[in-house]
Amino acid sequence: MAAMKEIIDQWLRDAHAMEEQAEQMLKAQAGRIQNYPELKARIEQHIGETQSQRGRIERCLESRGTSTSSVKDVTGKLTAMMQGLGGAFAGDEVVKGCMASYAFEHMEIAAYKTLGAAARTAGDEPTARMCDEILREEEAMAAWLSDHLESVSSTYLRRESADSSAAKR
Ligand code: MG
Ligand code: FE
Repeated sequence: MAAMKEIIDQWLRDAHAMEEQAEQMLKAQAGRIQNYPELKARIEQHIGETQSQRGRIERCLESRGTSTSSVKDVTGKLTAMMQGLGGAFAGDEVVKGCMASYAFEHMEIAAYKTLGAAARTAGDEPTARMCDEILREEEAMAAWLSDHLESVSSTYLRRESADSSAAKR
């Protein structure tokens, strides 16, 4: 049996690893996009938010008296799942990237809802509030993608069927 604090510390480390994975994937995705400027701009905005989230989690771990030195060594199940999802970004096609992003944001939403509730159960209100704050950023990104999946896929479809080289990126 582990103490509540240790469990939550581990979940915070998992969230930190998730944000590192998120940053890598978003950067790879933004770097490839050439002909979908609105999508590229929103992803770049979220890269900034993601870097800030990682920093907030590091400061949170520090404030809980937990070392952040081991934070980069996480190779948990969550990380493996994130890498699996990230594999979808390896494709060369913008629509698959959007689908993977949409799925990833919902994984993040689930993680911060869970972590925030756990922190509240353990009586750590500052950590719970940090989770609420990050959660709102993930929900905003997920909502933006939800609102734009249709236009990205229809633009892709029109360009690809017209044999335009602008379709995939
Ligand atoms: Mg995030
Ligand atoms: Fe996110």
